[in-house]
Amino acid sequence: MIDQLFIADAAWLGADTLAGPTAVGVCGDEISWVGPPAAAPPAMPPTRIDGILLPGLTDHHVHTALVDPAELLTAGVTTLVDLGGIPDILWPLVERSHHEPRLPRIRAAGPFLTSPGGYPTQQDWAPPGIALEVGDPHSAAEAVESLLPHRPVTIKVALNSEAGPVIDDATLYTIVRAATAHRIPVTAHTQGIGQTLRAYRAGVRVLAHTPWTETLADDLINDLAGSTTIISTLDIHGWGTPTRDRETALHNLRRFHAAGGMVRYGTDLGNGPLPRSVNAREVAALAEAGLNPTDILRAITNSPLRRGVTADLTAVPTDPTTDPVALSQAITVRKAACQ
Ligand SMILES: [Zn+2]
Repeated sequence: MIDQLFIADAAWLGADTLAGPTAVGVCGDEISWVGPPAAAPPAMPPTRIDGILLPGLTDHHVHTALVDPAELLTAGVTTLVDLGGIPDILWPLVERSHHEPRLPRIRAAGPFLTSPGGYPTQQDWAPPGIALEVGDPHSAAEAVESLLPHRPVTIKVALNSEAGPVIDDATLYTIVRAATAHRIPVTAHTQGIGQTLRAYRAGVRVLAHTPWTETLADDLINDLAGSTTIISTLDIHGWGTPTRDRETALHNLRRFHAAGGMVRYGTDLGNGPLPRSVNAREVAALAEAGLNPTDILRAITNSPLRRGVTADLTAVPTDPTTDPVALSQAITVRKAACQ
């Protein structure tokens, strides 16, 4: 069954180079057919796409409390992950994002879990309510429980010893245990010497940023590569001006990727002067970290265009398998209404 058929001169179907003329059929919220236009099943008049057809793009690190998410949808970001927001505003927004055509699909962690007085509670940019302060294992377990009805996609923990106190190991282990019992991964902001190792040992399996405060030991890089996803956020360091933190992060991410680790595109949008679109500098930094164009396409999408996947479609004017910075020119063709 096909409700809508999209035809483009080229499309990315997962290979290292583009496929030629391609038709993508959509049924409801799923892609139901992909192949050459001449072989496409009969459908209503097809929609011709001017450009190269791609799946929807995802920014894995955004703060919708600090930016209008609707701007991202026009720029090809059909899904975003909110890694720290104000519950009373965030959860209704997540709900609306599944139905409102002007919003990208929003998946969210909820508030940060942090130590009393810990990061980000003392930060100028942090609005009240963006963090749940947990001082011991008991309050940590309660905090995780309180988030479950909202179906968080992850639990966000702040381990930033450079900006205040951090939760102790017993509290961290309790958070990981409570989340993992519900099959929810824990994502950590690690900043300060030793915090990434602590997170790894406790069972944290997503890092919200490429660690930048220290060059991680090779053993730890290898352990992380076998177990952990890193969300890139390389451009938060200097926003185009080279800095020592950026160099350290790049060095860590380069070795993590070379060791087979899973890298996800993410910008920390909401913090600092970042574009309300796919960030060309972030994409270029991923290339600097050793990701080839196909790796970058995998880092920014959930799946290539193929039958059975959510029918989010975007288009770019030039070939991203040659120059992935083309992703910064993306526009959204359609966003599926489903979750
Ligand atoms: Zn962030």
